Amino acid sequence: MTPISYSRATSVAEAGRLADGAGARLLGGGTNLVDLMRKGVERPSRLVDVSGLSDAIELARSGSLVIGAAARNSAVAAHPLVRQRYPMLARAILAGASAQIRNMATVGGNLMQRTRCLYFADVAGSRCNKREPGSGCDAVGGFNRYHAVLGTSPACIAAHPSDMCVALAALDARVQVSGPGGDRMIPLVDFHRLPGDRPDRDTVLDPGEVIVAVELPASPFAGRSAYRKVRDRSSYAFALVSVAAGLTMREGRIEEVAIAFGGIAPKPWRASRAEAVLRGGPAAGAAFAAAADAELADAAPLAGNAFKLALTRRTLEAVLSELTGGSL
Ligand SMILES: Cc1cc2nc3c(=O)[nH]c(=O)nc-3n(C[C@H](O)[C@H](O)[C@H](O)COP(=O)(O)OP(=O)(O)OC[C@H]3O[C@@H](n4cnc5c(N)ncnc54)[C@H](O)[C@@H]3O)c2cc1C
Repeated sequence: MTPISYSRATSVAEAGRLADGAGARLLGGGTNLVDLMRKGVERPSRLVDVSGLSDAIELARSGSLVIGAAARNSAVAAHPLVRQRYPMLARAILAGASAQIRNMATVGGNLMQRTRCLYFADVAGSRCNKREPGSGCDAVGGFNRYHAVLGTSPACIAAHPSDMCVALAALDARVQVSGPGGDRMIPLVDFHRLPGDRPDRDTVLDPGEVIVAVELPASPFAGRSAYRKVRDRSSYAFALVSVAAGLTMREGRIEEVAIAFGGIAPKPWRASRAEAVLRGGPAAGAAFAAAADAELADAAPLAGNAFKLALTRRTLEAVLSELTGGSL
């Protein structure tokens, strides 16, 4: 048994100082980290509890909503400002996990949760480059129904698991972090990394950096937004495909649009190519199909997950149709 020290940080600076060392891990609600410790994937020697740091959800003078990293997922989904201004975020959070888990899970922990790839979690029996760099990837030729079709590399095809982050990607959220090098703001779309040849690095966070808050700029999409998640069970299951989308219309045409996908990529996937096809164009089925084609053009499906291409296309078309008043 490995001895583990536990301390509760009372400030961001203290958390960063305590967590800046090999073997240290920040602890939010523990719903992911403790699971991984039980499985032997994570073996920290020091836990630094950050669940007592800011959980405030408040409007800044700029009009942005600032959500403290220790805010529980359930509190974010239920907050009146989130429900009014960012309904797709409330829906995305409520589509994830269970009420009990959402009551424990923090915003910081949700951003940092690891993949649900079965081979990543199987310490005893499987090769995984994300868990053990250079060991190989058993998912590529194995059971890859739940894996990514966009943004993968020969080293890793694991999908990003978060629902919340998909909505945050569509909403242009920014992540406020603090560390030994000072404070910085990272656009959510740049926060998670594609695997390349370093799949062990999920994010761009440096050692000792702590997530302090997530900032959401004012959004024009509150009136027309959606989060749709397709999964094997109707609750308590991760996404096969999910779509977060918001748009505005002007004289029958799509004016502004933001789309992100979950379940099909190693990071929350902002669908910029699809947006470019739709922006300024008609709200018509042919445009929705062309948007899906543009985004999926570089997809690299495998034997077990090729169905995700058609599923992504149909889910996107249905969401866009719903948001523009059609009946697809
Ligand atoms: C059965 C089950 C079903 C689930 N289903 C879903 C689902 O459908 N959709 C979904 O999106 N999620 C799902 N989840 C995952 C869940 O959302 C995450 O476990 C949760 O969001 C993690 O938050 P946490 O606070 O508990 O993180 P922790 O487990 O405490 O930490 C996770 C990681 O975040 C790091 N961390 C924590 N706080 C900070 C911080 N402030 N700064 C930097 N790093 C930090 C930790 O060091 C650790 O690496 C499910 C989980 C379970 C157990």
